Amino acid sequence: MKIICIGRNYAEHAKEMNSVIPTEPVFFLKPDTALIKDNNPFYYPDFSKEIHHEVELVLKINKPGKNIQTQFANKYYDEIGIGIDFTARDIQAECKKNGLPWEKAKAFDGAAPIGKFIDKKQFSDEKNINFHLKINGNNVQEGNTKDLLFSFDAIIAYISKYFTLRTGDLIYTGTPEGVGPVKIGDRLEAFIENQKLLDFEIK
Ligand code: MG
Repeated sequence: MKIICIGRNYAEHAKEMNSVIPTEPVFFLKPDTALIKDNNPFYYPDFSKEIHHEVELVLKINKPGKNIQTQFANKYYDEIGIGIDFTARDIQAECKKNGLPWEKAKAFDGAAPIGKFIDKKQFSDEKNINFHLKINGNNVQEGNTKDLLFSFDAIIAYISKYFTLRTGDLIYTGTPEGVGPVKIGDRLEAFIENQKLLDFEIK
């Protein structure tokens, strides 16, 4: 399986990163070795001094597809989850400065904790889903899908022009504003509406 992540999909986050607001989706990949499941801890890597959290809603692809049209994209996922797109911000800044790819900053082991998924039928309106991240009990990021620059369906259509999507592929759909550093000892809890779906520690 593969993990596809959308960058800069909330305008306020693009602004806080001093990035331009994109006119088409920005995406990158993480390998399956980046996943952390079952609320296992994240071990802070020794190559970075600035690991940032980015809480994101995640789509799980349920059937193969290529060149999917936007109006049919909704049929390609039936579960929504929440995860963290961990980013070594210091390394990313260096990559950006030198015009290099981001993988070292984004795709390292453990860079994609993923929580439980829920049936999308639970949501009456996918363009109005609240989600948030707590660190040590304090809200640090809050988002709502009404602020997405590119909708779930638009993302799937766009990605599938380039990559065949397969059952089990995950799409991290972008983070709202409020990204920031984590440190050893922190406890991260991520929620969709009021359901806690992810709960793990930094070690
Ligand atoms: Mg992200």
